[in-house]
Amino acid sequence: MSDGIKRRYVYDHDTVKRFADTCPMMVSRGGEAQPCDKPAVALRWVDAHDGSYHATPVCVNHCRKGEMVELRKVFEGIADVRS
Ligand SMILES: [Zn+2]
Repeated sequence: MSDGIKRRYVYDHDTVKRFADTCPMMVSRGGEAQPCDKPAVALRWVDAHDGSYHATPVCVNHCRKGEMVELRKVFEGIADVRS
């Protein structure tokens, strides 16, 4: 069933830059969901649960093998903003 769903990968350099400081992934602290807020070190494709994945700055704990944004994509994003 899910084979037919096309994943869409969104890299928006302005958004990436704006949220580049801290990790936005949700974590549970004392039973409460809060943003992770650790320093972001890399970009990961994060599932927006609508079939799209967005390049998002995450901390070292939220880096996942196989879900990282390729450097090529980052350079393409920078080139798009400058052109
Ligand atoms: Zn994190």
